[in-house]
Amino acid sequence: MRILISADMEGATGVTWTADVVAQTEQWQRFRRLFTDDVNACVAGLAAGGATAVLVNEAHSAQRNLLLEDLDPRARLLTGRHKPLSMMQGVDSGIDGAVFLGYHAGAGEEGVLAHTYLENSVTGVWLDGVPASEGRLNAALAAEHGVPVLLVTGDDRTCADAADYAPGARTVAVKECVSRYAAVCAPPQVTGAMIRTAAEEAMNRAGRVPGNVTGHRVEVEFDATHLAAAAAVVPTVEQLGPRRVGFEAASMTLAMQAFKVVTAIAAAAVEGIYG
Ligand SMILES: [Zn+2]
Repeated sequence: MRILISADMEGATGVTWTADVVAQTEQWQRFRRLFTDDVNACVAGLAAGGATAVLVNEAHSAQRNLLLEDLDPRARLLTGRHKPLSMMQGVDSGIDGAVFLGYHAGAGEEGVLAHTYLENSVTGVWLDGVPASEGRLNAALAAEHGVPVLLVTGDDRTCADAADYAPGARTVAVKECVSRYAAVCAPPQVTGAMIRTAAEEAMNRAGRVPGNVTGHRVEVEFDATHLAAAAAVVPTVEQLGPRRVGFEAASMTLAMQAFKVVTAIAAAAVEGIYG
């Protein structure tokens, strides 16, 4: 059984603050270790549950956060950015299950460091009319490839979100959200044991199912009008309102590629103080 771990950082043990996840800060150096501990706990659980190969795909920011030198030797690390399937690179390689580790709630929702791709500029994303976190988008991509989501970790809001988009998945809340920048956190000794146990048990659901390629509609709302106008320049993307764009795609893979272009162009259009 081959498993993919898509590893984001905002939902890692103890993370509650911008500096915790921004490269080169002292806090980031500290939380890289806790983030790596979460991953290792997951790898240990997956291996105990029967995984024979685990690929860890870095999914946060520049995607160079995990400490390779401390990684469980049973795993391999895909580190660095510019990957066609981004947070889900590797989902198309015949894997038997996916883990969303360190995930977070979506833009406009309550949750620690909640956002969808762009931290402030994107205020909401809808997939086929449903408010969509990164987890929901990535679960749809996994489903297209016949890959079950086995386990989702993050704050309690992330777990509630996952219960809706991947009802068969195990969830582990490593912290309880108090606000976007505050949480009641369990220490790594506790969260590590929780993640390890859940990962082992989640392997019960590993195994490919038939993939389901269908068309999808995505809408994205921004915090400023010029970002929607910039995104609407992308072919197939239509401006639906002053701050909202939408597009249709023939598959979830194509939808995610278009979404990536939309967010990249919007990010490039952000100006200093006025955003
Ligand atoms: Zn994220």
